[in-house]
Amino acid sequence: MERTQHHTNRTDVAIIGGGPAGLQAALTLGRIHRDAVLFDDGTYRNAQAAHMHNVVAHDGTPPSEFRAVARRQLAAYDTITVRDVRVTDVLEADGGFRLVLADDSVLTAEALVLATGVRDELPAIDGLDELWGDLAAHCPFCHGHEFSGQRIAILGAEAAPHLSALLGPIASELLVMTHGENLPDPWSGPAAVRGEKVLGLDRWDGGVRVRFTEGDDEQVAAVFVAAAFHQSAPFAERLGLELNPSGCVRIDELGRSSLPGVFCAGDMAHLPAHPKPMASVTIAAAAGQLAASAALMHLMSSGD
Ligand SMILES: Cc1cc2nc3c(=O)[nH]c(=O)nc-3n(C[C@H](O)[C@H](O)[C@H](O)COP(=O)(O)OP(=O)(O)OC[C@H]3O[C@@H](n4cnc5c(N)ncnc54)[C@H](O)[C@@H]3O)c2cc1C
Repeated sequence: MERTQHHTNRTDVAIIGGGPAGLQAALTLGRIHRDAVLFDDGTYRNAQAAHMHNVVAHDGTPPSEFRAVARRQLAAYDTITVRDVRVTDVLEADGGFRLVLADDSVLTAEALVLATGVRDELPAIDGLDELWGDLAAHCPFCHGHEFSGQRIAILGAEAAPHLSALLGPIASELLVMTHGENLPDPWSGPAAVRGEKVLGLDRWDGGVRVRFTEGDDEQVAAVFVAAAFHQSAPFAERLGLELNPSGCVRIDELGRSSLPGVFCAGDMAHLPAHPKPMASVTIAAAAGQLAASAALMHLMSSGD
């Protein structure tokens, strides 16, 4: 559903991203009656999850419902426009920014809030993508409790110490599947370890059946794996923003990037003190509020 109260080709703040970070940024600017246009191309990091957890007052809410409620509430603010259009390019122009849209139209903005998120890169294991967000996950805060008192597998040696420590109090038993990698030596984690490469994962008997290159199959309730990730959109690179070693944009406490007028929020950016983003709906929304407030200060300091 597209809502366009304003059909102008300029705005105070362009927000790219309609996940929790971008939606909150729009709400904050709407509350203060500043013009903002939010762009959303409909690709959300948690799209495959039926329910979200660890979000206060929304524990168990479907992510699609969370976004739909946020959009309905934004409709009360006349200065906010939500457009379901992909942004294809962003350039610096006339002291502000010029956005090129997939429908070939152009919008100029005084300030930019990037909230474009990241894309997960799963290990190439047959069946993993289909289970992702359901019986396979990366975050024990988001999914762990649902498998309380059951046998849980951890895939990959590097993440095994961290995930074992988090999942230990939740699971009845942990199985570490190193997928051919070496565990830290000495290993003080769970005793159940399979070193063979994992061939594939299937839904089986309400849980997951794991097939290995050799040896017997294993039956577990769920599989946890640390996924790699990359920026969803090319705009950080396009604008030459300083990055953290994680590949996410380096921001300060107010969400300011290295380029004046560009503010970032959500999974695509984090403070240099953190090794990677604290990927969470609540933290993304909080960052969206900070970035919008900093964008507002930027507008006010430039006399707008
Ligand atoms: C499987 C899974 C389950 C999860 N479960 C939970 C959970 O239970 N609880 C929790 O707190 N966290 C959970 N997370 C983490 C959570 O999804 C993220 O932390 C959160 O979505 C980050 O919000 P965001 O706004 O930064 O990005 P996203 O929600 O990914 O939103 C990015 C937005 O940018 C838009 N976009 C990107 N490029 C463009 C473009 N060029 N033009 C226009 N729009 C663009 C997208 O369309 C989208 O609207 C989960 C993650 C995964 C992978």
